[in-house]
Amino acid sequence: MAERGRPKKWNEEQKEILELYKREHLDKKTNKIVEGFINVSREEFIEWFKKSGFEKGCCYCGTTNETSLKIYNSQTISKIRHDATRGEKRMRRLELERRDPNKPYDDLENLAWACHWCNNAKSNFFTELEFHPTISYAIKKVIDEISKEIDDLNK
Ligand SMILES: [Zn+2]
Repeated sequence: MAERGRPKKWNEEQKEILELYKREHLDKKTNKIVEGFINVSREEFIEWFKKSGFEKGCCYCGTTNETSLKIYNSQTISKIRHDATRGEKRMRRLELERRDPNKPYDDLENLAWACHWCNNAKSNFFTELEFHPTISYAIKKVIDEISKEIDDLNK
């Protein structure tokens, strides 16, 4: 039954997303760094992923994974922009976002996809209502301009 619900073949992007399941985090109960979710199985995570709206992009500004990767490549490959990827660790793809940061990652209802720029700006400080749509709108506007700028330079 372990294979239940899994697509026949995962593409590279999906494989990378699945790596997020193994992300390290602090288990507050034991105060130890653990790998993966605590109360969510890999299969449950896959089921969640399929319904998560990943293809729609950031839950706040709508920036897609494709745009995120394009901006990442403009820093790491074509060097069009200053490299702010922190050693190529950030911006490559959409990130897991807890809409309410007081709830654990294990609460799949609270989990969504956010672009690096929204996730970073919202942090654990702004509430969803404070952040969206005012700040997220401004982020979207600038990210769209940067995206167009990269397209123009790559022509
Ligand atoms: Zn965003």
